[in-house]
Amino acid sequence: MSDVVTPPHRKHFLSDKVDFFTESVIREMTRQAMLHGAVNLAQGFPDFPAPADIKRAAQEAVAADVNQYAITWGAKNLRNAIARQMGVWQGISVDPEKEVTVCCGSTEAMISTLLAVCNAGDEVIIFEPYYENYGPDSVLSGARPKFVKLRPPEKDGGEWTFDEQELRRAFDRHTKAIVVNTPNNPTGKVFTRRELELIRDLCLEFDVLAITDEIYEHILYDGAQHVSMASLDGMRDRTVTINGMSKTYSVTGWRVGWAVAPEKITNAIRKVHDFLTVGAPAPLQEAGAVALSLPQEYYAKLAEGYRTRRDHLIPSLTAAGFHCFRPRGAYYVMTDISAFGFHDDVAFSRFLVQEIGVAAVPGSSFYRDPSDGAQQVRFAFCKKPETLDEAARRLSKLRHS
Ligand code: GLN
Repeated sequence: MSDVVTPPHRKHFLSDKVDFFTESVIREMTRQAMLHGAVNLAQGFPDFPAPADIKRAAQEAVAADVNQYAITWGAKNLRNAIARQMGVWQGISVDPEKEVTVCCGSTEAMISTLLAVCNAGDEVIIFEPYYENYGPDSVLSGARPKFVKLRPPEKDGGEWTFDEQELRRAFDRHTKAIVVNTPNNPTGKVFTRRELELIRDLCLEFDVLAITDEIYEHILYDGAQHVSMASLDGMRDRTVTINGMSKTYSVTGWRVGWAVAPEKITNAIRKVHDFLTVGAPAPLQEAGAVALSLPQEYYAKLAEGYRTRRDHLIPSLTAAGFHCFRPRGAYYVMTDISAFGFHDDVAFSRFLVQEIGVAAVPGSSFYRDPSDGAQQVRFAFCKKPETLDEAARRLSKLRHS
């Protein structure tokens, strides 16, 4: 027998931080969809091919032996293309040598940014409902998230709104940053210039940084315009702009995103990024430079393609009994499920994936207090027409169940 001595009090070997969040519900729903053979309208990734030119560029980069580490903060070609396009699209001038960090997806850009700017005790303001990563991101960076409500439109065709006074009350001397995701996941809200100016004024008054997630920048409907926070007067030197290839070029699995920030903040983000991941995939960064050089028509077609998909899915959801909040941007539709008489969104989503054969994301995963999302579920419509048809066919069973 071994004479190893076990100490009387065993350590539990886990960080306290991980107790504050669960695994991603969005990604869990994809696994559930696979398990039950359901149509996956949960996780937001396209089920159709990426543009041929971009795929070819990636293949050529591998063939040309772009197979070793890129510069840790990003391949020069890609940084140049990012800087150039921010000028073209938003009139923001960016130094590709000093202000761009390429990361493993905008997901890594967000957490590297928060780790780079937050200290324990700092507060980060987040609009709620929110993309679920922001919660764990704040906890891991030691910051305390503070939520400000986006309220659903009361009338059809209305917009999700926030209360200006509630937003103002959220700012205080502990506020380090505010996260603004526009176009917004999960609501489809596109923040107006006026709303962004209001946020800008508070950032200036309280000396707060804006961290913007603009990953759906090109996915806009009904004439909505995307405004980058960094383009507003006074915000260039207090904004970190996060974006990436995933949604614009339908390559969510490539994991190429970026953070654009003033030099001092970029230096801090680059340090965190370097030690977290060293770098994003080198050949795919070269393909990214090609992607960012596509003609302007590409973006118009992208948005039009998603508008068609939105207008394909919403009528089938409405016919099945969902109340839909019509998005003006991004590729999700938040719905109200009160008509189905379920106690909560998780039970309803389980029923939907197991009995009806469609996976969606329970609304509670977008709120701090699960009861706020108990009568909501989110559907993604970044899918082929035949996928949306099959989902519609299955959802029609809801009326008779
Ligand atoms: N943004 C996508 C969504 O909300 C998924 C992102 C992810 O799973 N990394 O569904």
